[in-house]
Amino acid sequence: MLVVTLQRDKCIGCNYCAELCPELFRMSKKDGKTVLLKSRDRKGFHTINTNEIHTYEAEQAKKACPVNIISVKTV
Ligand code: SF4
Repeated sequence: MLVVTLQRDKCIGCNYCAELCPELFRMSKKDGKTVLLKSRDRKGFHTINTNEIHTYEAEQAKKACPVNIISVKTV
């Protein structure tokens, strides 16, 4: 199981994560920040548990994020 977390408030809207991992991230037209699809918001930390199919893409998005607000853990 993969746990992906996004600290959304700090997103600068660069679009890298949505390009590298569109299965998990999509840019919001409302505020220009990324959305972690189907995630739960807990005090600004948006989290999903997903299967490991997306591990490589999620890791690429994590590495590309210039403000380091994406966390990817395998549990
Ligand atoms: S890579 Fe980081 S800063 Fe860029 S849109 Fe995604 S979460 Fe936001």
